[in-house]
Amino acid sequence: MNIFSTFRLVFWPASLIISLAFLNGCAPTPAAHLAAGGGHFSTVVIDPGHGGKDSGGLSGRGAPIFLREKDLTLDTARRVRDELRRAGLRAVMIREDDHFVELDDRVSIANRQGPGAVLVSIHYDAVSNHAMNGAKTFFWRADSHGLATRIQQHLVAATGETNIGVIRRRLRLTRNPEIPSVLCECAYMTNPAEARKVALDGTRQQIAHGIAQGILEQYKIGDAGIAPVPEIWAPMSRGSDKFEGNRPRKHTHKKAQAT
Ligand SMILES: [Zn+2]
Repeated sequence: MNIFSTFRLVFWPASLIISLAFLNGCAPTPAAHLAAGGGHFSTVVIDPGHGGKDSGGLSGRGAPIFLREKDLTLDTARRVRDELRRAGLRAVMIREDDHFVELDDRVSIANRQGPGAVLVSIHYDAVSNHAMNGAKTFFWRADSHGLATRIQQHLVAATGETNIGVIRRRLRLTRNPEIPSVLCECAYMTNPAEARKVALDGTRQQIAHGIAQGILEQYKIGDAGIAPVPEIWAPMSRGSDKFEGNRPRKHTHKKAQAT
């Protein structure tokens, strides 16, 4: 109990005391339309994968329609942004148009939003096996498991996509940000049936709706009902990982772009 607490107990109405007590311990939030809910965030950084010189995946010659991943991700991200803003959340786009942003800069933009934010990166998959189809969501940080799980559940429910599942994987955009971070692979643009579907506005709207619903559920109830994930769930592959950002790199090992 500190002086502030005493003051508040004496002078402030009971309802306000209860709400303040509930918020006590939550991270301070940036200016937002809504306060942080059970998920302890009020800002969503939306990352449309690729852009500019980096087209990302292509639907390929065998596909019924020519698609570039960077176009699909931007369109889907805009739809997610609009739905979140309509619900009152603060949504920050890493890119609003077709230009390239380095992965490390994406991480920096996310980190600048502070602890009251989460990062959702949006991608579409392209592989040589045209039979592959479905949606999956990656996370790495233990505090991102709930967000990944809810987005995956709602994404699959909204679209009818095959549920590949929630996968824990170290990608630069799931590991390096200092805030909860997930990366969605919404569909396989190299699968002819999926290419036809994601070329439609209506399908991308369904995908965006699923992602937004997952985010909003996490915003409201946090990790309630989500199985806990130990902080170290799999061994680090390199001992230096934890300190990588704090020291100069001796030799560059090129890390793959998140696909
Ligand atoms: Zn990608």
